[in-house]
Amino acid sequence: MEFSPLPGGLSRSSLYVGRHPPKAVRGYGCHVWDDRGRRLIDLNANFTTLIHGHAHPEIISAAAEALRDGVCFGLSNLFEEPHARTLLARLPGADCVRYVSTGTEAVMAAIRLARAYTGRERLLFVKDAYHGWSDTALLSSHDHPAGVPDGVADGVERVPLNDVTALAEIVERNGHNMAAIILDLVPNRVGLIPLSQEFVNTARALANAWDMLLIFDEVMSFRLSFRGRQEQYLAEPDLTILGKLIGGGFPIGAVVGRASVMQLLNPARAAPVEHGGTFTANPVTLRAGQVALQLLTAEAISRLNQLGDELRRQLKDAADGWEVRGIGSFARLIPRAEDGKRDGKAQAAKIRKLWWAAYEREVLLMPTGLMCLSTPMDSDTVDDIVARLADASNYVSKAASAASSVL
Ligand code: PMP
Repeated sequence: MEFSPLPGGLSRSSLYVGRHPPKAVRGYGCHVWDDRGRRLIDLNANFTTLIHGHAHPEIISAAAEALRDGVCFGLSNLFEEPHARTLLARLPGADCVRYVSTGTEAVMAAIRLARAYTGRERLLFVKDAYHGWSDTALLSSHDHPAGVPDGVADGVERVPLNDVTALAEIVERNGHNMAAIILDLVPNRVGLIPLSQEFVNTARALANAWDMLLIFDEVMSFRLSFRGRQEQYLAEPDLTILGKLIGGGFPIGAVVGRASVMQLLNPARAAPVEHGGTFTANPVTLRAGQVALQLLTAEAISRLNQLGDELRRQLKDAADGWEVRGIGSFARLIPRAEDGKRDGKAQAAKIRKLWWAAYEREVLLMPTGLMCLSTPMDSDTVDDIVARLADASNYVSKAASAASSVL
């Protein structure tokens, strides 16, 4: 293979799909054109960021105006407070916002806030949920991530998805030194299964009882309702972590939460929680993001969620041998285990085959097999996606059963 200046030929490891991956050339609406002449239906949308598709005219004109006015400043800018107020109007329990440039950084900031607020260190994640690639967040899914000091693992506990008994036990054992419970309400890497109401209620009650914070990571799930996925639960978080779509396609992350916690960031106080970032809250992101949020009305979300229902309903009939998971505008095809046993490696290999089979049928998935809808799509797009994915999933199933009969 020809040497690439990019390790593994990639700029981020989350793009890994094996072999020689195609490269994006341009995007418009819900399509991406690649360097091999394909026009793909984009169910990846840069890992759920582009909820209005590529090059939405109103978002582009907000960003273009921002480019003309100067892309970043060593001063606060006029677009921070309006964007923050837009977020707060959707998250009624929250009072303040701090911006960063990625979801990973937002998780890092929330963790630091929780530790400073409580004076404790330990954190509790759902096992295998993804919260970005910081040293600490990687420990939700890895025992010994390369390059992460062993000591970092001492600060992290993991609870199996929706295991209320284990949740209570872990907190009973460690609560005295626990700063926060951090939850993605629909963790994709745990199989895109929503957290149960009981699990979230228990987390809230334990956080209250032990004076620690409950943090919802809504970097992906915010798209599911006008007030984020948290709208569906009775429990409110102390902090919410946001990212992706709130920047209109430009780099962003945000921590949104109660004033009593967020005020620790106020640099005028003694020993504030440190935070910086040269590109934090840059006006291009905020102006594009403001428009993206305004376009994402309750009606737009409800239409997308209905399209998602339709997609999952049709896929259930069409994709033999695959389980259809998902909620709102998310869907995933998960290979059914033939003997009822789950083999993680075999499943991952099949999902990668599905990625390529879908690609060859001009549909772009996320490498985990996750797919998301965007507002330029309609029911004709859904029919088209189903026809292509039915073909792709049946092709992968047949190839797998042919391989096993040869063995
Ligand atoms: N939290 C969750 C729930 C995510 O899904 C992601 C990214 N997929 C992150 C955090 C990290 O965000 P980013 O990639 O912007 O660093």
